[in-house]
Amino acid sequence: MLLRLADVPDVQEVSAEHPPLEWETPLFHTALSQFEQAVPHAEVSDAIVERLSRPERSLIVSVPVKLDDGRRTSFAGYRVQHSSVLGPTKGGIRYDPHVSLGECAALSMWMTWKCALLRLPYGGAKGGIRCDPRALSQSELQAVTRRFTAELLPVIGPQQDIPAPDMATDEQTMAWMMDTYSMQVGYAVPEIVTGKPISIGGSVFRAEATGAGVVMVIERACQRLGWELAGQRCIVQGFGKVGGVAALELAGRGAIVTGVSDVSGGLYDERGLDVPALYSHAHEVGHGSLADIEGEHPTNEELLELPCDILVLAALEEQVTAENAPRVKARMIAEGANGPTSLEADAIFTEQGVHVLPDILTNAGGVTVSYFEWVQDIGRLFWDREDIRGRLADKMGDAFDRVWSLAQGRGLTLRQAALVTGIREVADALNARGLYP
Ligand code: NAD
Repeated sequence: MLLRLADVPDVQEVSAEHPPLEWETPLFHTALSQFEQAVPHAEVSDAIVERLSRPERSLIVSVPVKLDDGRRTSFAGYRVQHSSVLGPTKGGIRYDPHVSLGECAALSMWMTWKCALLRLPYGGAKGGIRCDPRALSQSELQAVTRRFTAELLPVIGPQQDIPAPDMATDEQTMAWMMDTYSMQVGYAVPEIVTGKPISIGGSVFRAEATGAGVVMVIERACQRLGWELAGQRCIVQGFGKVGGVAALELAGRGAIVTGVSDVSGGLYDERGLDVPALYSHAHEVGHGSLADIEGEHPTNEELLELPCDILVLAALEEQVTAENAPRVKARMIAEGANGPTSLEADAIFTEQGVHVLPDILTNAGGVTVSYFEWVQDIGRLFWDREDIRGRLADKMGDAFDRVWSLAQGRGLTLRQAALVTGIREVADALNARGLYP
């Protein structure tokens, strides 16, 4: 039977006879609805649609840990692998109080389309631990990470499923995961994770890759639209690994970054901000927040509605919805974060002629350089920064061009075209491999 969104019982209406599928959450509905909207343009069989409508494998584990004060507690941990048809699954690990099986399932589905769109030999995965990382000490985080890795051992591996950092996880988290895995097998396995420190097999340019890739996509879109990127007025929501680098790259190309924000709120100057100084304040000197800087401080909500040409969303999911989309003034929206635009907001932007550069294309720089990291680790041969930047630009440019041509040729939005392109790659592989047994 074909799984259609309409067939899925509403969470409100769930009864004992019709319990929801375990990953049914609003974010999974968004991912599934996007998939279903793209399917009619992808020309794939119902059987393939059914297979791709749900993840291949979902694991929930309990992660027991001894806290610094001697108490014991345990957290829920998740890993969802959406599709392994093209190769090992790949995706981040996040530590957040809202992590759920449904969130991981949605994000793993997007990872499948993203990897396929970029023609990386991977399927999508996502995982995480439901915890408040800010309430845990470094030693508690290390204990949680090592035990979680041990619980995941049956499903992860360099040819099976390769984790990476995501929200509130970083190079250090990946180093602990790599060490825990390596101690189990008895030798160093750098290729088990990506986003590691360079000292244990990480790649140069990985840290900057997502933000740099966002701006490569913006630049290409501007070229196609006949806009000059230099001089465009830009606002960037989120000033972390993605947004901070994207703001720097935009300023480096002569764009005028008038607004940025972090969790403390926004910072705005219509004459343009000194982005390198702000970046150094937030990322290098004592990791300060934007609230410390003198100037005009709109709220995060207000920032999204200020006049600009290009709005980069690089913070969280579901930031622009039917409620605030009509007040957004940008002519182009670049999705650095995953799922920052709701389905309703997307429809409003299409109607208003706003160009939305979709997440699975725009933020794919991170997983692309993660792929380069994995290839370098397996080959034990490391490339230099300019080589990686050039290879990334080639991959992002090629994906952008395929998406743009399809959108123009078929009258699709860029999101639909990106999804259709990714879905077709996976469907072709499923067709070629057939059904086992
Ligand atoms: P990060 O933790 O480094 O940065 C997040 C930034 O958003 C921080 O500046 C934080 O202060 C800010 N923020 C948090 N809540 C906010 C709010 N309500 N309003 C405004 N700003 C807020 O994370 P990141 O790696 O930059 O990831 C950002 C997004 O990009 C996430 O959705 C992530 O899944 C996605 N993403 C990241 C990568 C990557 O390689 N890092 C790759 C693809 C997608």
